[in-house]
Amino acid sequence: MVTSNSTPVAASEQGAAAAPTPSAPLHGTPVVPGIAYAPAVVARGEVSPTALLAFGDGGFDGPDGEAEALAAYDDAAASVAAGSAAKADRSNGATAGVLAASAGLAADRGLRTAVRKNLRGGSDLLTSVRAAVEQFVGVFVGMGGLMAERATDLRDIERRLLARLVGEPEPGVPTPDVPSVLLAEDLAPADTAGLDPDIVLALVTERGGPTSHTAIIARQLGIPCVVGVADLMTIESGTPLLVDGIAGTVETRPDPDAARAAAQADREARAAAASWEGPGRTADGQPVKLLANVADGESAAGAAVTPVEGVGLFRTELCFLNRTEEPSVDEQAAIYAGVLGAFDGDRPVVVRTLDAGSDKPVAFATLPGEENPALGVRGLRLSFSNPGLLERQLDAIAEAAQRTGVTTSVMAPMVATVAEAADFAASVHRRGLRAGVMIEVPSAALLAHRMLEVVDFLSIGTNDLTQYTMAADRMATDLAHLTDPWQPAVLQLIAITADAGRRAGKPVGVCGEAAADPLLASVLVGLGVTSLSMAPAAVRPVGAHLAGVDRAYCEAAAEAALGAVDPASARDAVRALDRST
Ligand code: PEP
Ligand code: MG
Repeated sequence: MVTSNSTPVAASEQGAAAAPTPSAPLHGTPVVPGIAYAPAVVARGEVSPTALLAFGDGGFDGPDGEAEALAAYDDAAASVAAGSAAKADRSNGATAGVLAASAGLAADRGLRTAVRKNLRGGSDLLTSVRAAVEQFVGVFVGMGGLMAERATDLRDIERRLLARLVGEPEPGVPTPDVPSVLLAEDLAPADTAGLDPDIVLALVTERGGPTSHTAIIARQLGIPCVVGVADLMTIESGTPLLVDGIAGTVETRPDPDAARAAAQADREARAAAASWEGPGRTADGQPVKLLANVADGESAAGAAVTPVEGVGLFRTELCFLNRTEEPSVDEQAAIYAGVLGAFDGDRPVVVRTLDAGSDKPVAFATLPGEENPALGVRGLRLSFSNPGLLERQLDAIAEAAQRTGVTTSVMAPMVATVAEAADFAASVHRRGLRAGVMIEVPSAALLAHRMLEVVDFLSIGTNDLTQYTMAADRMATDLAHLTDPWQPAVLQLIAITADAGRRAGKPVGVCGEAAADPLLASVLVGLGVTSLSMAPAAVRPVGAHLAGVDRAYCEAAAEAALGAVDPASARDAVRALDRST
């Protein structure tokens, strides 16, 4: 729901109408670079308590009260289902699937039966709906795994049903009439279906970190984004805002002329970046391979038409999130060949073996009921008690590599010891493929030099390396300052790993979200990282940034960031450096 006076007014008009009263900028974690100046439009997550109170028992107390209440429910459910179905039609891929499933939930007969039963039992309409949803949430949570995640969708349906019943617009993301900055507490993938980067010029959220859904979606769409901004939701719709997705600031009512000029300069810089065509190198010619992160054949085909030199991370587990049985070697080989085949022989692909577990449960692989799954049996650890799972996957990858002729490397996630790396590398080498391990656990970074005695390359997964170094859950929405790869302790571990690579003469890449941050990319290159793998949408901004800085700048950036006390001062210190080459 949007706040009452939510019609956005062009920021420039607001600025002209009222004398601007700039206030101190709010600070958050910048996740997608870019500057936008536009009025706020606020997405609200909850139905207003006043409207719920005013609705009361809905006045369904006559002789036909139960039938009337059920008819009101039917109308609300039909509208919610139709809204989700229409959004599904306008979206594609995983988002369309999520929305179609939501439409199905809203129209679910079982939910309606539960509402009717509660009405019969004497409950009023709102209470009946809430209790019915609660009952189904309990069932889904009890089933665990992916089904448990449907509980979030049910809660979303509940909010939409209640809003419809009390006559409010459905909560969620409004569609602004003019270019705006979208503010939200947090965003779910379903909220952001069909977001138009020409209308939503920036995204800012109060919660969420650099690896939150909001950040991932904003990066895919190339929308400047800042997350984890305290007190954000006190801003009213229509307030002119200057959002800086590089500095991580949100200024309310900035000086209009200066704000317009900053946004214009940024638009020009982004237009210049959009025409960058590679290959990745610094201004003085040091090569830095820019690679794509992909999830399946479709995303690989999309990545192949961007100026990437190959794939640095194929997350195989994402192909199997809704599979209950392990696919046969043949079926796996066909799926992997679909990704490899999108690239020609000159553009190599790094396939990661199943990183099932924790935030990515895969029914046929993950152990159920772990107390602390992020620290449990995930990634390579699944092969300890089920070695066949890994062996069959390696067979399928080798088969796909042979079928397509694409140069293929294989790496393992969640490696903690040199012995694990050696065993894994032996299995991969037996199949004639190059072997690497991800550096996601601090123990692996500290022993990078010894890992490199047994593998051909290392790839730093900064999302998990940050989580495990800072002891901060990467999904936690209130720890954005800790789950930030600019944390000097994380950079120190990257420095150790890259230095080991330099000494061994073997490549060390970064494939976590950190690689997609242009400013941080120069720090990573300065630390000695040789390739950066990212969402394809980030490749041009990162490539254009690196093309404008030289090796000396990157080394100075690395030193400045390593010496800072926290992410904000690390960013400030790097931004203060002279970029002229
Ligand atoms: C990482 O941890 O940085 C990484 C690339 O792996 P994932 O995000 O898939 O866990
Ligand atoms: Mg990881």
